[in-house]
Amino acid sequence: MTTLPEQTLLPEHPTAFPSEPDLVHPDTRVVSTGRLPDADHVREMLSETYERYRHVQDGAVADYIPALAEADSSWFGLSLTSANGHRFSFGDAQLKFSIQSISKAFVYALVVQELGHEEVRERIGVNNTGLPFNSVMAIELNGGRTMNPLVNAGAIATTSLVPGKTWDEKWDFIHAGLSNFVGHPLEIDERVYESEMKTNTRNRSIARLLESYGHISLDPTQVTELYTRQCSLLVTAEDLATMGATLADGGECPISGVDVVDPSVSRDVLSVMATNGMYEASGDWLFEVGMPGKSGVSGGIVTIAPGKGSLATFSPPLDAAGNSVRGIRATRHLSNKLGLNMFASTVQ
Ligand code: GLN
Repeated sequence: MTTLPEQTLLPEHPTAFPSEPDLVHPDTRVVSTGRLPDADHVREMLSETYERYRHVQDGAVADYIPALAEADSSWFGLSLTSANGHRFSFGDAQLKFSIQSISKAFVYALVVQELGHEEVRERIGVNNTGLPFNSVMAIELNGGRTMNPLVNAGAIATTSLVPGKTWDEKWDFIHAGLSNFVGHPLEIDERVYESEMKTNTRNRSIARLLESYGHISLDPTQVTELYTRQCSLLVTAEDLATMGATLADGGECPISGVDVVDPSVSRDVLSVMATNGMYEASGDWLFEVGMPGKSGVSGGIVTIAPGKGSLATFSPPLDAAGNSVRGIRATRHLSNKLGLNMFASTVQ
């Protein structure tokens, strides 16, 4: 009689399914292809979606960072940037808000660009925790390691890998890198930064816990400051759509024409967004929307249609997992209407 292998709570990390470096990542400019419907149709569908969801009242504005609680629950913006640089915006698409967790995907991109696919996969992981974004338990269940770069533990560990000799050099790298995805310099919301620095005891604890396991490459206080500051960068829904369109376009910003990251790095980022971008609700999201996305607690969501473009939504009220309620509904609707689902799509 055969005996079953002993069960563990979570799979061992690093993965039992390693990459084979000679098989992946020939760095060509080949990216996913496909076309958006024509401009009039895109405009009409965005406008229809805006009207359809603007009066949805569900969800609650995040208040665990005191400055975020000041957001108006009626704010709602939609923006789409195509992979060739056309922009469409509705509602509060020019309103500035702090990028929060959405920064994680783009800092991850910059770090993979520096250190490479294999090393970052090995150090940070790519699998979903199945637990909330600020979970400490996820670290303990995984032998002290992070599981993916898009929840707090993995994001803090990713930020600790940013190049630079000093804190200032590291910050400049993050600031310049994220600004490159948009095509113009991003400002900081100092009020949001101060507010989160006063209340981020949990993130400080996560950084300390990772330090205790030897899985962080920078002093925990310094990395928490860097991470909190990256979360305080101000963006609009239009900016986010352009950041996403850069990933849709194989790493070249379609507005500025600058190559921000390699096509293979874009591909890595889109993969971890598909599995982890909406925290523990990532499976529901992929099932309903069929595209990689990333949300943040201030109410933004960026969604990428590889080769076609990127859709960004902004609406502060969140569901229980911390994802924007109007944002999810609007993105799902537009995924259907514009034929964006990567697994099966027709334009309606
Ligand atoms: N700065 C926030 C935090 O660390 C970001 C979280 C989020 O957007 N989900 O708590």
